[in-house]
Amino acid sequence: LARRREGQEAQAASDPRGFGAIQNVKDWGLVRDAMDALGIESPFFRQHEGIAGARSLIGEREVINFGSYDYIGLNGDPRLHQAAMEAMARYGISASASRLVSGERPVHGVLERKLAAHYGAEAALAFVSGHATNVTLIGHLMGPRDVIVHDAAIHNSCVEGARLSGARRVPFAHNDAAAAERELRAARRGAQRALLVVEGHYSMDGDVPDLAAFVRMARKHDAWLMVDDAHGLGVVGATGKGAFEAAGVDPAEVDIWMGTLSKTLCACGGYVAGRSELVDWLRHTAPGFVYSVGMPPPLAGSAAAALDILHAEPWRVAKLQANARLLRDLCRTRGFDTGESAGLGIVPVVLGSSVRAARVSAALLERGVNALPIVFPAVPEGSARLRFFLSAAHEEADIRTTVEALAAAVDSVPVADPGG
Ligand code: PMP
Repeated sequence: LARRREGQEAQAASDPRGFGAIQNVKDWGLVRDAMDALGIESPFFRQHEGIAGARSLIGEREVINFGSYDYIGLNGDPRLHQAAMEAMARYGISASASRLVSGERPVHGVLERKLAAHYGAEAALAFVSGHATNVTLIGHLMGPRDVIVHDAAIHNSCVEGARLSGARRVPFAHNDAAAAERELRAARRGAQRALLVVEGHYSMDGDVPDLAAFVRMARKHDAWLMVDDAHGLGVVGATGKGAFEAAGVDPAEVDIWMGTLSKTLCACGGYVAGRSELVDWLRHTAPGFVYSVGMPPPLAGSAAAALDILHAEPWRVAKLQANARLLRDLCRTRGFDTGESAGLGIVPVVLGSSVRAARVSAALLERGVNALPIVFPAVPEGSARLRFFLSAAHEEADIRTTVEALAAAVDSVPVADPGG
């Protein structure tokens, strides 16, 4: 684990851009040729024919699916479709302009008031893409005289935003609060402003930060604290409110909450919640908001409905977490490496080389289970893994069947295979 952390840190310090690290067409050609030579079928862009949730149709075959963000089992829920259709009937599909200039619809405000209330925040703002939210938020907020101290495993969108800002970027070892404080203390000197960025639930490892420690250090060193809770909403905390609920932290202690509408809420887009001063400034000046079309009204309508369902049906969160715990614990009993997964909604099974992870994923699909390999450079080589996104819509039998299938798939790919 320590080696993995060091690797992640080193990777983040150099170029943590995931597949963006394959910088040109020629490099990509080399990767593709190597896969062809090893007889590895690409696991990417596989077509799903219907609504992907706990089960999905790949080609003609229904599989148990762990590849989709459908944490609380709302993808395809008729109530979301109804909300989307009502908004579409009133306002059409497109907002038809930037919200600043004629694209504003009542449904945007409805969604944003619900999001703000969720965090006990003064205001919230919805963007058309989660990735673009981080890029434009961080890129716009911070500048060349500032410093951004962030977890080494932070999402690519935060890193891209940090690059855009021109601020000094200081990654710290994944989920190591003591290392974060050391870096923040050192980096704070000489920097005009400091932003500390963590995720509420890490998408590669399924672990969670010590949020109270990050709140304390942000106050102590006069930094803004931003939490990307894309995978926390609906997943973390007893009722899925997110990272603050699990940590027992008042959400107002976090300066910037960021999240996405694409995961638990089964729509598309991102949001920021915080003080009205910040949100109003973003609303009028953030390039990714001002110079981009408003969120399609049907998505705003369905995301608002999904947030209501999350609040009204906490049993979904309990079931998701029970499923994740069961998968993690059964995997551990079998001797699989699930790292530091908190067993809330994401369970990685670390397999070693990228080739091995790709082969095991293919063997698992043959056995009726879809779990995608996460390979270099998204994670350091040697810690390639299968990543399981759990759902409240999985049944206990699905989890048990999956672990049996995984054991068989792993056994079918010999460790000594030169390509595996
Ligand atoms: N933040 C995190 C932590 C993410 O995992 C993702 C996407 N998986 C994003 C932001 C971007 O969100 P979206 O996919 O909704 O654009």
